[in-house]
Amino acid sequence: MTDAATLIRAKRDGLRLADDEIRWLFDAYARHEVADEQMSALLMAIFFRGLDGAELRAWTAAMIASGDRLDLSSIARPTVDKHSTGGVGDKVSLILAPLVAACGAAVPQLSGRGLGHTGGTLDKLESIPGFRTGLTPAQTLAVLADAGCVICAAGSGLAPADRRLYALRDVTGTVESIPLIASSIMSKKIAEGTSALVLDVKVGSGAFMKSRDEARELATTMVALGAEHGVRTRALLTRMDVPLGRAVGNAVEVEESVLALRGEGPADLMEVTLALARQMLALAGLDADPAAAIADGRALAAYREMVRAQGGDPDAPLPRAAHTRVLPAPASGWLTGLDALAVGTAAWRLGAGRARKEDDVSAAAGIICLAKPGEAVQAGQPLLELRADDRDRFGPALAALEGAITVSNQTVTLRHDPPVIEHVPAA
Ligand code: URA
Repeated sequence: MTDAATLIRAKRDGLRLADDEIRWLFDAYARHEVADEQMSALLMAIFFRGLDGAELRAWTAAMIASGDRLDLSSIARPTVDKHSTGGVGDKVSLILAPLVAACGAAVPQLSGRGLGHTGGTLDKLESIPGFRTGLTPAQTLAVLADAGCVICAAGSGLAPADRRLYALRDVTGTVESIPLIASSIMSKKIAEGTSALVLDVKVGSGAFMKSRDEARELATTMVALGAEHGVRTRALLTRMDVPLGRAVGNAVEVEESVLALRGEGPADLMEVTLALARQMLALAGLDADPAAAIADGRALAAYREMVRAQGGDPDAPLPRAAHTRVLPAPASGWLTGLDALAVGTAAWRLGAGRARKEDDVSAAAGIICLAKPGEAVQAGQPLLELRADDRDRFGPALAALEGAITVSNQTVTLRHDPPVIEHVPAA
């Protein structure tokens, strides 16, 4: 028998927590016998002191045990999912789930909403008229069995401790901790029941992890947690200094995803999506070529089937913003920088994101990048198209974009910075 103050003091002073202490903590927290302020203090102590391998294993196991696990044993195809740590213009899930399903796997993708400058897959899909993201476990299984993929919200029964902890971390400055991020993501993915998982760990200004070393540490931590829980897990580190693709927002990202499924997506988006698809298919034991599934229309057909199965109309027009504003190139030369964090913050201020979990997002707001780094631009040429439902949103969005664009008048050697930086193999 222990108590919360003893555990907080122990972690504050750099001692390690035993497995039974961690189990006690989560049970007592579920019974509301540990208060939110005590859990917040412990999270801050973990932020500074970390969790060692054994503590992290016990912490993640306790988060999983706080709720149910989805049982996917009725699904005949091999199950494989992907998780991204979040970025700007990151619409990969919308393309990848149907693409990998079209290649023979089942993709059970329980996704999240955007918070702050990073977009959320559920917000994007909800811009499709009729599309439902709130499914019961039985409905989730039915869509997965019929369409081969499902993208919906994690029900309240899956890793409920994470929902409470994440809300505390969000308001106590304790989000950016590798063990807390790793246990948060992996508890939900393990509870989702997938057999295999590919992680897209983003690196750069628009990502949680600003350096490659931090991103690699997060990736290896999550890959090891997956292996310990019987989920075959690999990771890719991918670049997030610049928005992925050209569209940032909700409906605008759905439109770009459909273009990608037709094989007409921007090169960086296609490169990341196909690299992740190949990893997922390898983990699922399927010898299939994802590029061929795009070229012959199977991936687009699987997307349309998933949208219909979730109540959406894939042919319905998407919401359009009432107002647009163009940001011109400040000079002639080569576009060398388009900062992902600034573009994500501007899209958020235009209404595409939310400041608090309860806020609504605008389906139509967002930004179209009319040029990307590496391209030649002329002074005055439109670089970004901003879209909003309300004109008053343009001022704060333009303020976020100050200093975000770099144009060089030197002749730069056009480097291709590959968007996939590094592979982290299964543990
Ligand atoms: N995404 C999550 O689900 N949890 C985190 O802690 C960070 C990103």
